[in-house]
Amino acid sequence: KPAAETRTFEAEVSRLLHMMVHSVYSNRDVFLRELISNAADACEKLRTLSLSDPAIAEGGDAFRIVIEADKEAPSLAIADNGIGMDRQELIDNLGTIAQSGTRAFLEQAGEGAKGSALIGQFGVGFYSAFMVADSVTVLSRKAGSDEAWRWHSDGKGAYEIEPVDLAEAPARGTRIVLHLNPDNASYAETETIERIVTAYSAHVPVPIVLKLADGTEEQLADGSALWRKSKASVTEEEYKDFYGHVGGRFDEPAVTIHYRAEGRTEYSVLLFVPSSRPFDLFEPERQGKVKLYVRRVFITDEAEILPPWLRFVRGVIDSEDLPLNLSREMLQKNPVIEAIGKGVTNRILADLDKLATDNADSFAKVWESFGAVLKEGLYEAPDRRDGLFKLARFKTTTGGDAWRSLNDVVAGFRPNQTAIYYALGDDAATIAASPHLEGYAKRGVEVLVLADPVDAFWVRTALGFDGKPFQSVTQGAASVDLIPVLEAEAAKDAASEDKPASEAALAALTLRLKQALGDKVVEVRGSNRLATSPACLVAPEFGPDRQLEKILASRDG
Ligand code: ADP
Ligand code: MG
Repeated sequence: KPAAETRTFEAEVSRLLHMMVHSVYSNRDVFLRELISNAADACEKLRTLSLSDPAIAEGGDAFRIVIEADKEAPSLAIADNGIGMDRQELIDNLGTIAQSGTRAFLEQAGEGAKGSALIGQFGVGFYSAFMVADSVTVLSRKAGSDEAWRWHSDGKGAYEIEPVDLAEAPARGTRIVLHLNPDNASYAETETIERIVTAYSAHVPVPIVLKLADGTEEQLADGSALWRKSKASVTEEEYKDFYGHVGGRFDEPAVTIHYRAEGRTEYSVLLFVPSSRPFDLFEPERQGKVKLYVRRVFITDEAEILPPWLRFVRGVIDSEDLPLNLSREMLQKNPVIEAIGKGVTNRILADLDKLATDNADSFAKVWESFGAVLKEGLYEAPDRRDGLFKLARFKTTTGGDAWRSLNDVVAGFRPNQTAIYYALGDDAATIAASPHLEGYAKRGVEVLVLADPVDAFWVRTALGFDGKPFQSVTQGAASVDLIPVLEAEAAKDAASEDKPASEAALAALTLRLKQALGDKVVEVRGSNRLATSPACLVAPEFGPDRQLEKILASRDG
């Protein structure tokens, strides 16, 4: 057989490698993800090819990826029975950085391969092996070929390539052996491998098996990506298991959203709205936990694809269009991610709205758990306000235990009522006891009881609903005067001994009170907002509501 040749990489490799190892990936674990992705790609490629040429994969085992570790060496091997590489492909694909064979294959295969789940698009993945290995050996036999090749490099600028006996190489596909450097010997440990595969590659489309020291095999992944299946082929039980896995929770999902978006941006979505509040819902970071995948490879759960006011949603978004090696910077302001975020947000709001229509009780539970978070969107995302107002439910002064929608409230307007009235406070009981509400009760006016801290913020910036402004019962001149008093209340007044004071007497009283209180108040005036209490404090027309002032003051302090 011919002697081994030594060839040089076709790029300023050592510098590139150094750069990549130290900057492209912020987390070393991803080397395993990259090699598994390549192995899965290789299987997918052969699967695609065998569609038109069945002979090519004939007689071989079912597609799978086998990981094998040797703690003594220490070394780690990743083997696949995919398409494999011949000599020229080893040179082209592993000898040229940023030469992505996957991309060339996609271009060649054209439309036919478009739907297949090919992961790699950027040619740096393989080299991440040098983050943990002093040298890497690749043994490969191309499907249908009777030659096998050995490629070896220390990743410093040169590589060797030589033919090997068929007995040394896999029957089909590629075996990559990492000779781990001492600092990274832990990657040869079973627990480490299990952890990384479960975290990053549990849903690659090819089964993954770990060969244990005693020769037995442990399956780490079964090769199915639940979110990529059609809705009809997934059972409730599978959804629930997956929800537990992806959400790390034990309750049942209240809403399951599973679909595939096609068109300008393509992605699969499997998301859940939990049925109970997670403990960290109101942490100041307001971080979401939706997992971003790119072609079935886990990328991150810190992409913040959805707005913070949907941070309670759990699950997976799997993009067809993003590159695998997304850096933190690329995740921000990325137009693809923005488009996905927008589309998915639309869908979540639409599905919640549907639930509200179809199953009001079930929706009420969701609102009870997450309404306070959704309401953050009312001031953070003005363009979403209409959609959120449709979903918003309120406890009101006349509604008892019922959750009332704004439509309900407007439909119940009293004659001459032009504003939606609200009362802010720390809790519903305190609000209910407020003297400010007396005049409203007397007129049968329904007042929103706003007891969530977020309410003080959105209600000020929201311009109104359905053309009706929001008006605080503790702020400004009460416009309730124009609304007729309920008949029963009017009858009570008529029967009462007490008669309204004359204008002149009222003017004299308010003047004296203003003189007595001086600068402590802006104005003292007569009001119809009270029924039994003699006086109450109200905030000026313009400026913060008293509840908002209180919240702001407590934050500053
Ligand atoms: P990418 O996966 O983005 O194309 P990589 O650096 O990860 O870039 O891999 C470079 C190329 O090497 C791949 O595109 C593929 O052609 C080839 N390759 C890598 N690993 C394998 C493998 N296990 N089987 C077949 N080809 C492989
Ligand atoms: Mg790759």
